[in-house]
Amino acid sequence: MNDAFSGRAKKSLGQHFLHERGVVDRILLALDAKPGDCVVEIGPGQGALTLPLLQRHGALTAIEFDRDLLVPLAAAAAPHGDLTLVHADVLDVDFTELAAGRTLRLVGNLPYNLSSPILFHALDHAAVVRDMHFMLQKEVVDRMAAPPGSKVYGRLSVMLQAWCEVTALFPVGPGAFRPPPKVDSAVVRLVPRDPVQVGIEDARHFAAIVRAAFGQRRKTLRNALRLCCDGDRIQAAGIDPALRAEQVPVADFIRLANATTPA
Ligand code: SAM
Repeated sequence: MNDAFSGRAKKSLGQHFLHERGVVDRILLALDAKPGDCVVEIGPGQGALTLPLLQRHGALTAIEFDRDLLVPLAAAAAPHGDLTLVHADVLDVDFTELAAGRTLRLVGNLPYNLSSPILFHALDHAAVVRDMHFMLQKEVVDRMAAPPGSKVYGRLSVMLQAWCEVTALFPVGPGAFRPPPKVDSAVVRLVPRDPVQVGIEDARHFAAIVRAAFGQRRKTLRNALRLCCDGDRIQAAGIDPALRAEQVPVADFIRLANATTPA
């Protein structure tokens, strides 16, 4: 993009810079930032999303780990709006502190090697996250949004769909990036649900049940969960213990976890 950005894309930081304007426009349209929204971009890179977002929205916070990108990015952004650039590993950023009483709208073309840790880090701060629009590896988006019974329905699907409304928005081919990644990508929207409505009584126990159930996904719930709860309690929760995890809807996992929460 800009000549000010010298040097190669760093593989270790998952750098694949978006250059297709049509894709940028679709992300901006999906985000639909309104005046007053507190938009935070993760991994602005060379500014493919940052600069158009600034032009539209006027102000933005962006968190970038690569020190070499900071000066040219700040210079490129200056004519377009008010960019607050945070030099940090996003996994060390306390979103609750950053929000300072507001709610955040997270957006980013994420480094794919870190996408799950970033998602779960954001979910740790779900109370201050209004929504997330992320570009991820398509295979990960497919798993996140998969319905029960699908081949790719698994732990990631249940953990994310329990806490968020997950919508796969559109696929993006490798040619939209420089250098092109080896995999297809897709944009996904996640909207954290109200935890009271989610109704999970013990988040750690819920996570443990889901992990155990999918740890042995070919086994029935009765066998896969033998160490956490007996078949009678699964039955008492109104769930057939002969089912395999991949057949069990998210709401049933929540019921099962609540019915077997240790006292
Ligand atoms: N948003 C830019 C674009 O669309 O062209 C760059 C996307 S590139 C896939 C991922 C970006 O995340 C890179 O700029 C990379 O340096 C940055 N990054 C990688 N690891 C990071 C981390 N732990 N914290 C913050 N940014 C990180």
